[in-house]
Amino acid sequence: MKILVINAGSSSLKYQLIDMDTEAVMAKGLCERIGIDGHLKHSPLVGGKPVYDEDIALPTHAEAIAAVIDKLTGAEYGVVASMKEIDAVGHRVVHGGEKFACSVKIDDEVMAALEECTPFAPLHNPANITGINACREVMGDVPMVAVFDTAFHQTMPGKAFMYAVPYDYYKNDGIRRYGFHGTSHRYVSARCAELMGKPIEELKIVSCHMGNGSSLAAIDGGKCVDTSMGFTPLVGLPMGTRCGDLDAGVIQFIMNKYGMNIDEMLNVLNKKSGVLGVSGVSSDFRDLDSAASQGNDRAQLALDMFHYWVAKVAGSYVAAMNGVDAIIFTAGVGENSKSSRKAIAEYFGYLGVTIDEEANSKRGEDIMISTPDSKVKVFVIPTNEELVIARDTKEICC
Ligand code: ADP
Repeated sequence: MKILVINAGSSSLKYQLIDMDTEAVMAKGLCERIGIDGHLKHSPLVGGKPVYDEDIALPTHAEAIAAVIDKLTGAEYGVVASMKEIDAVGHRVVHGGEKFACSVKIDDEVMAALEECTPFAPLHNPANITGINACREVMGDVPMVAVFDTAFHQTMPGKAFMYAVPYDYYKNDGIRRYGFHGTSHRYVSARCAELMGKPIEELKIVSCHMGNGSSLAAIDGGKCVDTSMGFTPLVGLPMGTRCGDLDAGVIQFIMNKYGMNIDEMLNVLNKKSGVLGVSGVSSDFRDLDSAASQGNDRAQLALDMFHYWVAKVAGSYVAAMNGVDAIIFTAGVGENSKSSRKAIAEYFGYLGVTIDEEANSKRGEDIMISTPDSKVKVFVIPTNEELVIARDTKEICC
């Protein structure tokens, strides 16, 4: 059985074709500049076919999907003989509101519900919906599933997801913490339980997804009980370019002083803040590491702030769960930066965490980086959101 996984953005579309018998990726690729001019990079990973990497007209998402199918099935770059071999499609959808606590098979009713969630994610959900519609147009009645970034966090109790604002904003408008990166937190926590050889129901886990966007999740018995992103992905930790937690009074102060409107203000908080804003160097942790090692104090401050916040939020989750068995690092920074992992783990001495330097130097594999006698186990687990989407799609459709 073969499943196509689609992650559609407003002008981009990422895809993977996964063979579910082996869970191996057969081909992957990226359409960019959809609706502008267009570029497609398609990488077949089986059959020794060459990579296709060319400018190609992609006026709409439907044309992008058609180009992807053409590459997946064509003689020169293809990995399957025809579209009939694609059994189902899994779509990443950013926001499922309170309507979706798990993945669902897509039908007209689900599409209407997705539209209702759009005000919560006005930049992301419309692109996801466009991607689904494009696929339905090109692929006809191939079964499709929506997998939500927010769904895993729907198990949070009210005390964790409520904001302390008038209750009517929650009741009438859905204002609450939703959380994101749920598919990633779900994957790495399940994998962590496997690696520990214990049922996830018996484990308390803090999952640290540290990429361009970063969030932590407290996972007790396999269920998310708290997470650091909120109504939007802007809050929690300082990130590559997002500010993380911020006193709302600062917004009023800056807007008044500099005559900014709310869109300009949010653009600063989303795109010019975080470690980029503090360091003035870069949003990329590799650049920060190298600037800091050359004596750039602001790069070092940005790194220190990030490590401090991860440790501080993780510590609050240990309190929330009344204990912790495992801490997981994942995503770009979590998987690749041994210096960030080390700096964060140093805060966990009170938990009896000790790190194995040699294990912490390895890359690209699921690995325990704590010493065998460490009271709390620490893991690096490369995330795989596409595989979760494909597995859910298989379970629901096939
Ligand atoms: P996204 O949130 O866009 O999915 P990723 O999970 O791909 O982000 O993470 C991207 C980030 O990972 C980059 O901005 C970079 O800061 C960081 N990163 C990647 N490789 C390294 C590395 N070797 N050392 C430190 N940071 C790294």
